[in-house]
Formats: sequence, C-alpha cells, structure tokens
Amino acid sequence: MKFTEHFSSAELACKCGCGMLPERDFMDKVERVRVRFGLPLPVTSCARCAAYNAKVSKTGEKGPHTTGRAVDFAVIGNRALDLVRIALEEGFTGIGVQQKGAGRFIHIDDLPAAEGQPRPWIWSY
Ligand SMILES: [Zn+2]
Repeated sequence: MKFTEHFSSAELACKCGCGMLPERDFMDKVERVRVRFGLPLPVTSCARCAAYNAKVSKTGEKGPHTTGRAVDFAVIGNRALDLVRIALEEGFTGIGVQQKGAGRFIHIDDLPAAEGQPRPWIWSY
C-alpha cells in the first residue's frame, strides 16, 4: 500500500512488526525531496518503536527514528551529496552520514532543536 507517491507503508513501517508508521507531514516533506531527487531512494530504516530502536541503535529507546520523523536511505557518493543538498533546502535539520565500507546510507530528519540536541546538525556513524 502506498504511503506517498514513491514510498510504501511496508518499507516505512517499524521492522519489528508493531505497525508503527512515520508521521504523515514528515513523509510529505520526504516525498518532496524524492521528487526533486528524481531517482529511487531505497529506504533502509524509517519508523522505529522504542523497543526496536533500542535493539538497533546506540540512541536506545529514544532517538530520531522513534519520533516517526527520520529516515535512512541507501545512497552513495554523488547521489548522497545531492540528497543532502536537497534535504537541507527542504528544511531537514538532522543529517547523518555513513559513507564508509558496506551499508552506506544518509539519514535525514526534521527534528527541532532540544536540550542536548542542537539543530541543524550533521554527524557520522
Ligand atoms: Zn516496532
């Protein structure tokens, strides 16, 4: 089932099977990025419930993905750079970069600044 024009609910849902989906307005922004990007953006991770996030991330039971406002895309090199540029122009505030070895991806989110979480911000893994 489509969640937006270019992304299905299945690829966006929490991988533990709990059924958590990302926020609608967040994905509408992601869809705008996808349209401008003009090529497929393979999702490696989007919504994560607290329990699943604790299994797969150093951020434990919190972290951007648990808000339903973060997504990771498997893109590399020039396409990764294009994605970051477009995401910044579309108002995304968190950029995570994993561009070394296997499993390269770019994380984008649009979380507001908070205590211990200044925004905009870029990090690597
Ligand atoms: Zn879950």
